[in-house]
Amino acid sequence: MAEKTAAWGLDSVEIEDAFLAKCPASLNLLDRARRVMPGGDTRQQAVGRPAPVYVRRADGASVEDVDGNEYVDGTNGWSAVILGHGHPAVTAAVAHASAQGALYTGMTERVVELAEALVARVPSVETVRLTNTGTEAVLLAVRAARAFTGRSTVVSLVGGYHGAIDLPEMGTFGPGAMYEIVAPTVAIPLDDLDRIDGLPWSDVAAVLVEPVLGAAGSFPVSPEMLRALRSRTLQEGALLIFDEVTTFRLSPGGAQERLGVVPDLTALGKVLGNGLAIGAVGGRADVMDVFSPDRRPRVRHSGTFTANPVSVGAALAVLPLVDGTLVEHVDTLGERFCHGVADVARRTGQPITVTGLGSLRNLHVGTTPPKAPGAAADEGEDLRLLSLGLATRGHLVSERCYLAFSSAMTERHVDALVAAIEDVLTCA
Ligand code: PMP
Repeated sequence: MAEKTAAWGLDSVEIEDAFLAKCPASLNLLDRARRVMPGGDTRQQAVGRPAPVYVRRADGASVEDVDGNEYVDGTNGWSAVILGHGHPAVTAAVAHASAQGALYTGMTERVVELAEALVARVPSVETVRLTNTGTEAVLLAVRAARAFTGRSTVVSLVGGYHGAIDLPEMGTFGPGAMYEIVAPTVAIPLDDLDRIDGLPWSDVAAVLVEPVLGAAGSFPVSPEMLRALRSRTLQEGALLIFDEVTTFRLSPGGAQERLGVVPDLTALGKVLGNGLAIGAVGGRADVMDVFSPDRRPRVRHSGTFTANPVSVGAALAVLPLVDGTLVEHVDTLGERFCHGVADVARRTGQPITVTGLGSLRNLHVGTTPPKAPGAAADEGEDLRLLSLGLATRGHLVSERCYLAFSSAMTERHVDALVAAIEDVLTCA
């Protein structure tokens, strides 16, 4: 007998069968992948259950899979592709840069231009270093904070995700996590201001915060919590680090500009390359000076591909396009999506709701948006089946129904997505 999910009554057999019937070529590729990659996957979460769609190409708001199915992309490279796929300005910049040699050992004028652009745009950034990923940017921010303060403890928020490093990912240590051995870490619950007093402040090097907890399900940190962390870190001689790898898209200067809270250090990534691999760490010049070659001892920061001309060329093309008007457009799509889902909940009586801020959104089970990660712990199967039902109807969202709107999308795409959500929920 078919299993129905607890909240939305979704039928797993019916939904999986309908999805798989449209994706035979993807299934074949998954079979091949399983023979040569552990679990058939090349990184966590690229492979959905029971199968991912294997993508052939993407253009603007749409993605085509190897079976020839067309989808509207709701997740956009885990939020990185804010301009939509294959944006002509980025494609041209990449082609131009790679034609001139993809990697040099020396510096380039363009790296200086990119650093100038970031300093001009992000409130906390007085000086900056480039990286290849958001993970490296966070790692370097933490390293800089430890070197500058001479302390070791890092405080983060429960549910915070800071990349593929052994910080307390999602509030738990996975097997093999080494971080705790070399440096103590403490995670406090989102918006629990009372916990701030009890932190071991004399050893706190940094408080590391994502202004919107993305991987945990798009939970905005309250401005009160951010302000409280800002003033307390200043009092205690600890540094405040914003992990803006995802939230950089919330205004031209990141969430810090939007929310009016300026950290000491900022980690950037994702939208900076609109799909090309690049990140950056920047902040107070006195702190960033720990990286200076003139410093003894200095904090190590190396990387074969760091500041490569292709990623730098892409970022220089991206930044001028991600202006206030563009952010307003993608934010409006996020708002429209929230209103649309609220209407679906009213019409269908199904407990479905949306969290997030601006263009960063996540669907959840519930009648009102949950305030913190884990509030609806058993929603995973409902969300997974909804994502499959949406894929069958031509909309790609992640398995946990994470969305990040791109400027290639229009109100029409959002309305079609909302209609598809209603269709899946009413077929239950
Ligand atoms: N921090 C946050 C908030 C992220 O969302 C991510 C990526 N999802 C990272 C860091 C790591 O970035 P990357 O995957 O580029 O290493």
